[in-house]
Amino acid sequence: MTLRGMVKRVSGQDVHLCHACNDCDMDIPAKEMDIPLSSLVQLILLNDEEALHCRTVWSDSVLEASRHACKRGLDLHAVITALREEKLRRDGY
Ligand code: SF4
Repeated sequence: MTLRGMVKRVSGQDVHLCHACNDCDMDIPAKEMDIPLSSLVQLILLNDEEALHCRTVWSDSVLEASRHACKRGLDLHAVITALREEKLRRDGY
């Protein structure tokens, strides 16, 4: 299954619905967020595995802030949680 398909199955979020408006980009220090949320969504669309490894996905500050970050209806908290679960599953946890 593709990364994009996994995110859709696990989170119920279809990242194809992203308008690339960048409204979800937040002012969070680079040590927490190496990739803006809008770019993270684009990585998922491209099935780019960097989405599983970037600091953005593993930052609890970003995870909390992502809850209402998308004004266009995508639940980015659920998307990040799905990415975390997938990475942990692949690592055998
Ligand atoms: S705010 Fe939502 S629609 Fe806009 S770029 Fe971010 S995820 Fe995509």
